[in-house]
Amino acid sequence: MLIPCLACESRFGPDEYFSACSDYNRGLDLVSWTCPRCGNRDDLRVLPGELGFGYPHRGRFDVHDRLRVPGLRRHRGDLRLDISLDRSSWRVPTRLRQPA
Ligand SMILES: [Zn+2]
Repeated sequence: MLIPCLACESRFGPDEYFSACSDYNRGLDLVSWTCPRCGNRDDLRVLPGELGFGYPHRGRFDVHDRLRVPGLRRHRGDLRLDISLDRSSWRVPTRLRQPA
């Protein structure tokens, strides 16, 4: 299955797509995704069987669009999100921020 960039509509295989995820935000439960083709940045939530696209709003993340990815699984860790699909897995670390 191929997963599209919502900005340039390039399509990526799971490995290329999930390797472009960075910075798991556990509070909002989202990851940042940077398109390898056009450089567009999206926030998305990895859910069982689907990806949720949306926007942070008032301290939460509202999902507006969903894309079904059959077999997609996730496991939330303290400082990372583990994503798995079929026999592959990807680890998205949390970028540590300086305390304000
Ligand atoms: Zn793109």
